[in-house]
Amino acid sequence: MRSPLSRCSVGHFLKHFATFPASCYKQVAQAAAAHHLYLRKSMHYLTEERGRPNAPDYRIYFKTSEGKYISPFHDIPLFAAEEMDHGVPAKKTKKSDSEVLYNMVVEVPRWSNAKMEIATKESLNPIKQDVKKGKLRYVANIFPHKGYIWNYGALPQTWEDPSHTDKNTECCGDNDPIDVCDIGSRVCQPGEVIKVKVLGILAMIDEGETDWKVIAINAEDPDAQNLNSIEDVRKSRPGHLEATIEWFKKYKVPDGKPENKFGFGGQFKDKDFAVEIIKSTHEHWRALVHKQLAAGDIECKNVSCCDSPFKCSDEKASAVVQSVKKLNLFYAYTNFTDATTFIMCLCIGTCVWGSTSRVCRCGQVAFCLEEQAQLPPTVPRVSP
Ligand SMILES: [Mg+2]
Repeated sequence: MRSPLSRCSVGHFLKHFATFPASCYKQVAQAAAAHHLYLRKSMHYLTEERGRPNAPDYRIYFKTSEGKYISPFHDIPLFAAEEMDHGVPAKKTKKSDSEVLYNMVVEVPRWSNAKMEIATKESLNPIKQDVKKGKLRYVANIFPHKGYIWNYGALPQTWEDPSHTDKNTECCGDNDPIDVCDIGSRVCQPGEVIKVKVLGILAMIDEGETDWKVIAINAEDPDAQNLNSIEDVRKSRPGHLEATIEWFKKYKVPDGKPENKFGFGGQFKDKDFAVEIIKSTHEHWRALVHKQLAAGDIECKNVSCCDSPFKCSDEKASAVVQSVKKLNLFYAYTNFTDATTFIMCLCIGTCVWGSTSRVCRCGQVAFCLEEQAQLPPTVPRVSP
């Protein structure tokens, strides 16, 4: 779903920019914010944004369709529910492990660069942008790709235990939920919860830590019916698996890090193997949330895990979110008044400012919120 910001057309913006009184910006921002809260519905979940978009305090919190706040890490089930038919669960059919669909929490949309991720160390685990050395983190473009080359995210209720040595890689886990690459054709949004079909897995070794990458496809993708194995991906998406290896190998090199390594000589394992790895990370998560394993700095507050000592009331979960700064689109709108703080993408192409680098849609108004000082001189300024 497109955000209110991206729905602003350039023509509309130009027409009203000069005459739009400052007091109106607030009304527009508030209306847009309210609109935004209720439109970002995905599956059975809603999201609620807090803080300022594209800023270190931006957060995406998760709610049930009844409006109860939840943790995407602990309260969204790993296994996707059966389809509902007029509110009644569809007749269950016995499925083999490899036919089961999983919930995926989308963190990073395909072709984008901002490293959005579930904040495992914050209460209720909202999605936020990773910050390194005080700066928002963006992955570099790995030639010839633009941003991440799949929708990237995590399987809920999984955990790669940093105290457990994986027998396949002989390395400990990376202390995060297991990562997923959705190769479906639809570009998803951060905070979407989609059902995915697992197709295979890659054993990445990141600075001595096991960091499994599940390869999956959105179950609603037109190709999902035809893709049933990693070999099917190889045949029907030529080059995508090779590009995936290249991408993971090199994506930290521009930041001065060494190339990542892989278990099994960089060979993808099949979906049955992937299912076994997912099961074991699910068991590690279960032990974590039931306090059978040391949680360290992982935040385990949840509202639905029976017998978990970290389970809290709906009221307490709500209080966590209410204590966080509200969504502040006004901040973005007020930047209209300063010609040096925004650029406009009149047609297609990549707009680049500071360390931000993303492809804008035709007609999209792009905002530079915090990094105007880093605008390269070649970026056009538009005078009001
Ligand atoms: Mg990981």
